[in-house]
Amino acid sequence: MGFSTALQGRAAHEALIVRQDAELRLMETMKRSIQMKAKCDKEYAIGLIAVAQQGLKIDRADEMQGSLITKSWRSYMDELDQQAKQFKLNAEQLEVICDKLAHLSQDKRKARKAYQEEHAKIAARLNHLTDEVVRKKSEYQKHLEGYKALRTRFEEHYIKAPGRSGRKLDDVRDKYQKACRKLHLTHNEYVLSITEAVEVEKDFRTVLLPGLLEHQQSVQESFILLWRNILLEAVQYSDLTADKFKEIQKRIDTEISGINPTEEYSEFTEKHKTSPTTPLLFQFDETLIEDIPGKLTASTLTVDNLTVDWLRTRQLELEAAVKDCQERQLKIIEHVNGGSPVANGSIISNGSSASNGIQSNKDSQIRQSKDLNALRCQEKQKQKLVDMIKCALNEVGCEELPSGCDDHLSLEQNFIEHGFNNEQQLSLSTNRPLYEEEWFHGVLPREEVVRLLNNDGDFLVRETIRNEESQIVLSVCWNGHKHFIVQTTGDGHFRFEGPPFPSIQELIMHQYHSELPVTVKSGAILRRPVCRERWELSNDDVVLLEKIGRGNFGDVYKAKLKSTKQDVAVKTCRMTLPDEQKRKFLQEGRILKQYDHPNIVKLIGICVQKQPIMIVMELVPGGSLLNYLRKNSNSLTTRQQMGMCRDAAAGMRYLESKNCIHRDLAARNCLVDFEHSVKISDFGMSREEEEYIVSDGMKQIPVKWTAPEALNFGKYTTLCDVWSYGILMWEIFSKGDTPYSGMSNSRARERIDTGYRMPTPENTPPEMYRLMLKCWAADVDSRPHFDEIYNVVDALILRLDNSH
Ligand code: ADP
Repeated sequence: MGFSTALQGRAAHEALIVRQDAELRLMETMKRSIQMKAKCDKEYAIGLIAVAQQGLKIDRADEMQGSLITKSWRSYMDELDQQAKQFKLNAEQLEVICDKLAHLSQDKRKARKAYQEEHAKIAARLNHLTDEVVRKKSEYQKHLEGYKALRTRFEEHYIKAPGRSGRKLDDVRDKYQKACRKLHLTHNEYVLSITEAVEVEKDFRTVLLPGLLEHQQSVQESFILLWRNILLEAVQYSDLTADKFKEIQKRIDTEISGINPTEEYSEFTEKHKTSPTTPLLFQFDETLIEDIPGKLTASTLTVDNLTVDWLRTRQLELEAAVKDCQERQLKIIEHVNGGSPVANGSIISNGSSASNGIQSNKDSQIRQSKDLNALRCQEKQKQKLVDMIKCALNEVGCEELPSGCDDHLSLEQNFIEHGFNNEQQLSLSTNRPLYEEEWFHGVLPREEVVRLLNNDGDFLVRETIRNEESQIVLSVCWNGHKHFIVQTTGDGHFRFEGPPFPSIQELIMHQYHSELPVTVKSGAILRRPVCRERWELSNDDVVLLEKIGRGNFGDVYKAKLKSTKQDVAVKTCRMTLPDEQKRKFLQEGRILKQYDHPNIVKLIGICVQKQPIMIVMELVPGGSLLNYLRKNSNSLTTRQQMGMCRDAAAGMRYLESKNCIHRDLAARNCLVDFEHSVKISDFGMSREEEEYIVSDGMKQIPVKWTAPEALNFGKYTTLCDVWSYGILMWEIFSKGDTPYSGMSNSRARERIDTGYRMPTPENTPPEMYRLMLKCWAADVDSRPHFDEIYNVVDALILRLDNSH
């Protein structure tokens, strides 16, 4: 059943129009969603490229040469890059499909209009004839009545005077004959119009309307065919099981399956082949005791009133350790024989899947025998020490113990004279507070600590706050970086694994002097204390004077450096903020530390000895540029405004040369010095990278200052700072107005995306406005770099100066 037979009725005709409208709307919806999909795919591709780039940031050094795992990882990342490109190509094809849909929708709209017009045309002819028949009929009735009346009149006259002629009779006859003629003519017209109407109606119903409907059906069906093909295409470009993706996946699988554990280290072992190690000789250096005759004997334990307690405690500790080794060996042996699970986690196999069973069994056997060997060695070593101590104590027996220190040399002096022959001498005083020790770094963040400790044996002591409780931590560089929390005993002493001491200083001295590992497991030995750097100030080095501002992390104060009496600005960090925030706070200090430029605010130091932690900076007396612009709006001259732009460009040019992206350039984050000179400040969001991709969401973004590519894709480069610089120029020339005022962030963002740019502020030199527009170019690469910006502004200032 087709349109031509089924859809002839008026209601069907109207339904067909409504249906076409609905189809057009559906087409529009599809177009929009395919457009969105293309956008998503493109963004995904960008993300994927960033993933691949991140993944390829691997060590290019020789150590990993020949490593299959490195090789397959690299290939995997390359393939991800390929995948991203494929996504991008597909997204571009989806955009082409959107265009096709748009054309189809246009054609469909035209076809709908043509159908409506044609239908109206043929229906109009039928309607016209129907009206005509009605009109003719009523004419017929009118003439019939006239005819009848005149005929009656004629008959009456004729009957009254039959056979006679007269003027009156002739008149009546004449009228009667005329009416008769008119009636007959009307009759014929009526007959003709009915016949025509019958023909037209028949043609409408049997030829024209079915023809139109049949044509319409074929038009609609051909649209559906095109539509289907477009959809098929769209789906193809979204098909993740397409051959191209399958091939990529296959290549990744092949690469990774190519990792062969037995081959992984062949090249490495070949390269680093060495002959078995020759035994190291450990000998007591007798020159050490040359000056203390009789007291201490080479290679022999000294038992006297100073050492006896320590030796006994040590003996007990070592005996306990021997016993522990024996018990642990027993457990392993029981496990191997009985197959029962072992409580010791290190021996339980981690192999979880059945296919790993054999391998993990083998692994666990190897591990068990290795563990046994290690425990046997430990037991032997400890037993030897026990025997040595026992022997020494036995020799003294019940004799009165010799005095170890006749000359009353203090322990401190002893330490100082004999203890520290390293380049750095450690002072030991139990009286002064820990934070006065040069090697105590306060709440210095871990990243900084790691940066300071470079060679095995380098160490420092610091504080960390966990769950609002302060802990003292010893950080040591030893096969990487190790951090040991100082344990407190019940009676207020401090220790690691060895004996307790009444102060942390003594504990550290003991570790340093004895050259014993801090813990047996780590093997870490203290060799060189790392002292505070120039910029690590003590909180007591500054005196806070008055509050001058409020930052994100805490208040900002004017302060004085005690040592030089220099006025400084101090940013404080609220004590209640979590560690993560404190680390972020110090990020600014870390970045600023390396910079030295007249248009960048200078770091003097950070205070992390105590809470609150603080950043000390040069004091820039004019305060924030934004406030300054607003306060001095009446007196600011164009020359001064241009000078501010030049200063900011100079600072930014310097940052660009150091690969630093500021990410928050705005008038509120610049400071004003003497002579209106401007310094860039607030490096809390800065990153030292050529390109920085934000992956952890975009919280607290200064939307109206941020370039569209950073807002849309989280991609930051110096050219994003250039965009913000354009906004800063606008702030300077509008004397502190709010950009895009009256628009919400999202509205401003929408309008910028559609090409809107702020108009020039009043009295801005046209060249400066042109520069702003260049900074706001949508195409990132057509924005000027800071070097160019500086030169342009500098040249304009020169011209202005010369013209006066
Ligand atoms: P945050 O980075 O925490 O937001 P800011 O750097 O914006 O803090 O500092 C807040 C306010 O403190 C600034 O607006 C300014 O008024 C004042 N301020 C900050 N640093 C200095 C400085 N070096 N000299 C003078 N005032 C400063």
